Amino acid sequence: MPLSSPSQPNNTGSIKLSFHGANQAVTGSCHLLEAGGLRIVVDCGLHQGGRDADERNAAPFGFDPSSVDVLVLTHAHLDHCGRLPLLVKRGFKGRIVCTEATRELARLVLLDAAHLQEEEAQYQQRKLQRRGENRDAPVLYSVVDALRSFDCFAPGLAYGEAHALNNSVSVTLHNAGHILGAASAEFQIQTEQGARRILLSGDIGPQHPALLLPPKPPGQCDVVVMETTYGDRLHRPLQPSIDELYQVIEETWHRGGNVVIPTFALERAQELLNVLRMGVEQHNIPRGMQIFLDSPMAISATEIFKRYADQFCEPVQAMLTRGEDPFSWSGVHNLRESSQSQALNQIKSGAIILAGAGMCNGGRVRHHLRHNLWRPACAVVFVGFAAQGTLARRIIDGARTVHLFGEEIPVAAQVHTINGFSAHADQADLLTWHAATGKPMDTVLVHGESAAMNALAERLPNTTVHRPEQGDELRI
Ligand SMILES: [Zn+2]
Repeated sequence: MPLSSPSQPNNTGSIKLSFHGANQAVTGSCHLLEAGGLRIVVDCGLHQGGRDADERNAAPFGFDPSSVDVLVLTHAHLDHCGRLPLLVKRGFKGRIVCTEATRELARLVLLDAAHLQEEEAQYQQRKLQRRGENRDAPVLYSVVDALRSFDCFAPGLAYGEAHALNNSVSVTLHNAGHILGAASAEFQIQTEQGARRILLSGDIGPQHPALLLPPKPPGQCDVVVMETTYGDRLHRPLQPSIDELYQVIEETWHRGGNVVIPTFALERAQELLNVLRMGVEQHNIPRGMQIFLDSPMAISATEIFKRYADQFCEPVQAMLTRGEDPFSWSGVHNLRESSQSQALNQIKSGAIILAGAGMCNGGRVRHHLRHNLWRPACAVVFVGFAAQGTLARRIIDGARTVHLFGEEIPVAAQVHTINGFSAHADQADLLTWHAATGKPMDTVLVHGESAAMNALAERLPNTTVHRPEQGDELRI
């Protein structure tokens, strides 16, 4: 089926997919499916990174938000849900369909994002005033817009439960194994030519995740739209990464320093807490080490995680079912107040500090870097993706000094990058996932840089591969 540039509105009876974000890129996911008289958007994420991200976020969606009937949200990461309040602000009045865990996590993520948007607008406003300009700085969306978007959420769907959107279209969410609540969305569409099954992957987790159950896509599909973030590489296995983390902690303990781990609040923080708990139980981490979760968002997310015992791998599931807490024990301190975070500055040794943001482009971790990065006894451990241009990337790439709060801070701490903790499938995992979807006639690659996409495309046999540009359409 040919991929084409935008054309006329869709006739009822045919099926059309069009692509409005995360095309040849990894952020801003947004796809429009027109079928059975419905206009269905899958994901509405924020563009992140790059100089023009603000501009792209504020640009028109490529479709009329008021004409959209249903939004299916695959998971609560900001690059998949972050423009939902903007969609509502611009006229969307339909319902939002996702799993219950995604609904809860998206609430947390969107309130935080709206709060940051408001702060940024206030900062820009002060700049305008200093220049003597008497006009409002634009805000992408406010906390009120985020609250309005929560009114659109339908009750959460369970994995595997078919949900009728009208007489001819239904959607079923399948575990994507990426973060808690993450789903691939399967649409079953009745047409004059018979039933069609179209699957949009969302983000796909690894086959051997640290905390969750592995992805479980449905069987035979006609068309698959899939992410390709790591389509060109293989991850290091998880266990050597865990062992390396324990070793870094032990060495830092003996040197008399602290371990700072820049941490994403969703999934990575909970994975690390679980790994650290196992390390303490198995005597791989010195008992005296104190662990500080210095992130209000990660603390709230962890509370949500504990409500979904059945979504975790067996040992964690068993603990939660017994009423035990895999994410907290006597050595863990949850710091919500900023005064508690500041008090950490006095601790010179024996602390493991988990703080956001994961890429160090904001958040409390910058304060901990200021107090620990210059000390040779300390260690900074990166366990997540670090985009070009972020502070995390500069440190990983070997910067000798960095600027923090107007000061030049020498990088004297031990810097480690441990790569085995990915929440994304690698190339082998993506191929396994794709093989489980049968032999789809068409496979559309999204959510990846072109090198990753091309490498994966070469390994997908017996399917027509598409790599859409922004605004392209596929008729089915
Ligand atoms: Zn994601």
